[in-house]
Formats: sequence, structure tokens, C-alpha cells
Amino acid sequence: MSLYKKGTCDYCDDKNKILRPSPFMADAKAMMCEHCWNETKKEYEASDGVQIPDFDSNKDEYEILKNSIETKEEWIIELTESDSEIWGSDIDCTSREEAIEKGMEAAKKDGLTSFRIGKKEPCGMAIIDVDTIIEYAQDQLYGEVGEVSETYLEEVTRDQEKELEEALNEVFYNWHKKHELFPNCYKVLNEEVIEVK
Ligand SMILES: [Zn+2]
Repeated sequence: MSLYKKGTCDYCDDKNKILRPSPFMADAKAMMCEHCWNETKKEYEASDGVQIPDFDSNKDEYEILKNSIETKEEWIIELTESDSEIWGSDIDCTSREEAIEKGMEAAKKDGLTSFRIGKKEPCGMAIIDVDTIIEYAQDQLYGEVGEVSETYLEEVTRDQEKELEEALNEVFYNWHKKHELFPNCYKVLNEEVIEVK
């Protein structure tokens, strides 16, 4: 179960925030942002001495969501008239408008009639799929002892699978993070050809 969500705070209406369920028991379905959470925490502790956990108490999940919110848009410009698969742009922009403007300037200098722009989408790490792991484990046992292994991991419930999947992905993520192994390639979305005018 994920604790955090990205969205609009039910208390202050701030958009695109990290939210977690309200600490108010009576209001358990409402989602609260970090700012409101910290204010509430202060008030509670001052008046009733009630201890509320830190907003980021579920650290790993919090960090992942935080990174995804803070990543701003990146647009790139490809100064060629051909439509090669590989983008080798070294002009980075933070919006479509900026990409068109800077691209226009550079394309004119290079005497091009058109150029391409696109939004850079970083590639994430692969997600470990628990079904694949379980199948692998079953195959391995089958290889060792044959048909008597047939019932191995057959009774695993959906919740148990989910538990394993989350744990494996957390380890996988932390391992990437520790050794800085995240992929540095990217996909190009919203590709457009811009005519030089
Ligand atoms: Zn709020």
C-alpha cells in the first residue's frame, strides 16, 4: 500500500503536492500536504502533547515521489533536417516555447529550413515483476526434483505476492541509488518538426 499520493491538498488547496492521509481520525479520507501536516503537528504537540509522525516518516516512498515532482520539464532541440533516431542535441530548454525560440535562432545560423524539438523523458529503472520471479523459482525447483515440486508457491496469495514485489523493488531501487546506476538515456516525447521562418 502506498501512503503518499500526488495531488491537491484537501486543506489548503495547493496543487501538485505530495499528500498523505490526514492525521485527524474523523477526517481519515482527506489528504494533507506537508505544510499543513507540519502546522497540525505543531499545534497537536503544543496543546495535547499528542505525537504525530513526521510527514516523511515513510522515507523511501516519500523521496521517490518528491523527485518526480521536482523534476522540471526538459526540452531538447535537434538541429538536423533528417529524422534520425538518435538525438544528439546539446541545447537544453525548460519549455516548448523556449525550445522553438532557441532552435529558430540556431537553425538560421546553420542555414537549415527546419529542425526538431521534443520533450525529454528520463528512463527509469525496470520494475521487478513478481510473477516472473515466482515462475523462475518454480522452474528451478522443477529442474531439481521434477513433478513433486508442482505445488511449490502455488498457494501464494495476491497480498503475499504484492508484499514480495514491493520489497524487491525497494531493494532494487536503493541499490540503483547507492551505486548511482540509474539509466542516463531518455525518451523523446511530443516530437515536432519546426519550419524555419
Ligand atoms: Zn495543505
